[in-house]
Amino acid sequence: MSRLICVSNRIPTGPNPSGGLVVALADVLDETGGIWVGSSGDTVINPADTLREIEGGPFRRLAFDLTADEQARYYGGYSNSVLWPILHGRADLMQIASEDLAVYKSVNRRIARMLAALLQPDDRLWVHDFHLLPLAYELRVLGVTNRIGFFLHTPFTAPFEMAAMPNGLEMCHWLMRYDLIGLQSDRDVRKFNASLAAVAEAEVLDDHMIRLGRETVQVGAYPISIDAEEFANLAEAQFHKLPEGIVKSSRALMIGVDRLDYTKGLPQRFRAFGEFLERHQDWHRKVSLLQIAPPTRDGLKAYDTIREETETLAGRINGANADLGWAPIRFIHRPIPRETLAGLYRAAHVGLVTPLMDGMNLVAKEFVAAQNPADPGVLILSHFAGAAEQMEDALLVNPHDTEQVATTILTALTMAPGERRKRYERLMQGLLDRDVHWWSRAFLDDLSSTPAAEDAA
Ligand code: UDP
Repeated sequence: MSRLICVSNRIPTGPNPSGGLVVALADVLDETGGIWVGSSGDTVINPADTLREIEGGPFRRLAFDLTADEQARYYGGYSNSVLWPILHGRADLMQIASEDLAVYKSVNRRIARMLAALLQPDDRLWVHDFHLLPLAYELRVLGVTNRIGFFLHTPFTAPFEMAAMPNGLEMCHWLMRYDLIGLQSDRDVRKFNASLAAVAEAEVLDDHMIRLGRETVQVGAYPISIDAEEFANLAEAQFHKLPEGIVKSSRALMIGVDRLDYTKGLPQRFRAFGEFLERHQDWHRKVSLLQIAPPTRDGLKAYDTIREETETLAGRINGANADLGWAPIRFIHRPIPRETLAGLYRAAHVGLVTPLMDGMNLVAKEFVAAQNPADPGVLILSHFAGAAEQMEDALLVNPHDTEQVATTILTALTMAPGERRKRYERLMQGLLDRDVHWWSRAFLDDLSSTPAAEDAA
C-alpha cells in the first residue's frame, strides 16, 4: 500500500499523541509506513529548511518550526483573523492585512519545499484544514504529481462571503490543485460549488466534480466523527469517578462544552437559559447549567470581546437568580480532560450544543455516545452545526431564537423516558454506522480512485 503523508498545522505531540485525528489516522499511518508532518508549536529565530524527526510515538512524525512573526501573521493573522471568521460567516470580524497574506503564502511555500524533498512517487498526501489551503498549488509548482487530498474541518463560505475576502479568486485556484476536497456536510458541498461558480466562473460538472480552466477537482461530504464505541466505554468507566456531589445530585444537569469562540453561540445560549429561568420559576434550584469554555487564541481582539460578553452575561443571570444554595450557571474557563468530559456528559440530563456556525461539532457526537442507554439524556443541537445533517433525532434549534431555545430546554427536561431512549437509539446507531474509522477510510478510498495528475494530463 502506498504511504500516507498527512499534513496539518500542528503535529500531535507527546509519546502517546491523542485527539480525534490521531484516532482516525494512526492505524493507516502505521500500516503504510506513513508520516505526519506539522508545526512543532515552537518559535525560533531562523527556522531550518528541513523537517526534523520527533522521536517515539506510534507513527513517524516530522516537524517544522515557525518564527514569531510567522506565528503571528500566518497563524494569528491570515488563518485566524481572515479565514476563520469568513469560513464561519463573519466577514465583519475579518482583519485584512496584505503582509499577513504574504507570510501565509511564504510559510506554505516553505512547507511545500520540505515536503517535496521527502516524497516518493506513489505517496498519497492528505492535507488538513484552512492553514494549508495553498499547499497543493505550491507542490504542483515544484512539479509534484502525487495524489493530494484536502479536508476542511470548518464550514465552507457562501458565495457572497467569499466575495468579501481579499483574495477569494486566488483561493479558488489554490483549491483546484487538489485531487479531492473533503467537506463536512452536503450543505458545504453546495456552498463550495456555488462559491467557485460565482467567484471564479468554475463549471459544476455534477455535484461532485468541478472544472476551472484545465483543472478539475472532485468534492464530497465526509462528516468527521468519533470512535463512538470507545467513547461509550470511556464514559461508563469515567462516570463512576466523578465527585459524589455530581453523581448523586437531585438537580437536573445541563452541560455545554465549547472552546470560548464567537462561533459557538455562548451569549445566545446564556440568554436562552436566562429566559427559561424567568419563565419557569418552578425550575429554580432544580436545574443548573455547567458550561465548560476553555480560552482559545488569546490576544486576538474578537476573543477578548467574547470572553467579556459571556462573563458579564453569566454574572448577570446568576446575580438575578441565585440563592444561598444554588447558582444556575457554573462557568469553567479551563480545559477539562476529555475523559472527565465523557463522565460529565453521561451525568448530564441535557446537552446544549448551540453554535451559530460549526463545521461539525464533535461535542454533540460525544454527548450522545456517552449516554446511559437505559436512561439517556437529551441533545439540543443547533441547525447550524454540521452534525445536524446527520443527527435529526436531536432537538434541533435556531440558536438566534431565544424563545425557541428556552421552550426546547423545557421539552428536553420533561421528555418521557421512552421518547428519550428512542431518540438516543437512532442517534447512536448513526454514530456507530459512520464513525471516525469510516470517515478516514471513505476519504482515502476516494482519494485513491481519483485519476492521478499524470493520468489526467
Ligand atoms: N475538549 C476537551 N476539553 C475541553 C473542551 C473540549 O477535551 O475542555 C474536546 C471535546 O471533547 C471535543 C473537542 O475538544 O473532542 C472539541 O471539538 P469540536 O468539534 O466540538 O469543536 P472545535 O473545538 O474543534 O471547534
